[in-house]
Amino acid sequence: MNSNIVVAKFGGTSVADFDAMLRCAQIIHDDNNVRVVAVSASAGVTNHLVNLTQAGHSESDRQQWVDAVIAIQDNILAKLSLDADLAQGFEQTLNEFKQLAAMHALSKQQCDEMLSFGERLSSFLFTQVLRQLGVKAERFDVRKVLKTNSSFGKAVPDILATREAATELLLPILEEHVVVTQGFIGSDSFGQTTTLGRGGSDYSAALLAEAISAVSVHIWTDVVGIFSTDPRLCAKATPIARLSFDEAAEMATFGAKVLHPATILPASRAGISVFVGSSREPHAGGTWIEKEKRNEPGIRAVTQRKNQLLLTLKSPEMLLASGFLARVFGILSSYNISVDLVTTSEISVALTLDNAPNASRPELEQACLDELSQFCHVTVENNLTLVALIGSEIQLRHDDSNLMRVLSDFNIRLICHGASKHNLCFLVEQNQSDSVVQAIHEHLLEVA
Ligand code: ASP
Ligand code: MG
Repeated sequence: MNSNIVVAKFGGTSVADFDAMLRCAQIIHDDNNVRVVAVSASAGVTNHLVNLTQAGHSESDRQQWVDAVIAIQDNILAKLSLDADLAQGFEQTLNEFKQLAAMHALSKQQCDEMLSFGERLSSFLFTQVLRQLGVKAERFDVRKVLKTNSSFGKAVPDILATREAATELLLPILEEHVVVTQGFIGSDSFGQTTTLGRGGSDYSAALLAEAISAVSVHIWTDVVGIFSTDPRLCAKATPIARLSFDEAAEMATFGAKVLHPATILPASRAGISVFVGSSREPHAGGTWIEKEKRNEPGIRAVTQRKNQLLLTLKSPEMLLASGFLARVFGILSSYNISVDLVTTSEISVALTLDNAPNASRPELEQACLDELSQFCHVTVENNLTLVALIGSEIQLRHDDSNLMRVLSDFNIRLICHGASKHNLCFLVEQNQSDSVVQAIHEHLLEVA
């Protein structure tokens, strides 16, 4: 562990405009341990950039998205005067953006280049805001240190290469400066820009923290921590003060949108604690995610993830044969598809995939479906929501009549339970899922 270095990450809403940036800068100003700052693109920018990567839109739509990206920067710039070093880099980056936006039919590599502009631009502006508060801040291009493979759209970090580069290029600057860098983006071994997947800035912050052996990662967002469920859905949802790495990983994976699911990986590998709080209310507390094992059994949260695909694969000729599942998962893995829930029978397997709108690439490519169809009958169902109960020692026991009774009220399409004591997951129709979550929260989490 490297002394007491803290890596702070500020999400899109926290750097949405000048005032939001100023609040974040104050947080850094007030905490001398924060030496590395990873910023997201200003809110809305990445969605516009995703649109620009897609073929088939009209020229006027494309121009609108370009203008919208520029307007967000201009709004912030109107309240700032950039130092020469930042002004030059900013202009050059903006020009590169305009040039690429003028092109159609981008390659996968160019799509990632396009998606990178949000973070690249916001980091120039944020550095200046920090300087304005008297903080000695330097902007740093994270692509020099955050090394990944070449899986554009969802690149996999190279932990060793990242550590080596960060030790050589990033650590020395921290002695004198607070470094402002970009979340979400990295570069492959050819130096080409890559991205870690939507919402990946949290993951970047944890990866950087691991690479420089920081003591903790502070994720500043627009909510005061991770809640027992989405507070917009249940007024009685409460923030959770402490979570174990396991519980936090389950929550992030199954839909608590506060944290990118992969964030917990580097943190738990390196024993780095993660704090989640609101940059609007930095003193209002938040959630600490730590190594310490929580033994308290019980359900701590209910999450939902909409837009799930249920893929059912049936292969009658596999009756009493072996290798069916291996073949299915081999194909899915060759398309880098991440499967969430799985249930199986002798000749069929049902599995769920996340089909998030705004993802930088579709989860299930037609080519993959074609390959699967060669040896099994494939059915794809949409409009499903994955509901997850998260906690410790969750068990469906006959004496737990409360849990059984609540579940019995719903039409459950598929249920997964038993592989982990930290979750119980099931699929319901999307149009019912809000009320399912509300009922579960009311009956299982609001009891004193
Ligand atoms: N800007 C990226 C996104 O919107 C990454 C992030 O904010 O975490 O997905
Ligand atoms: Mg986020």
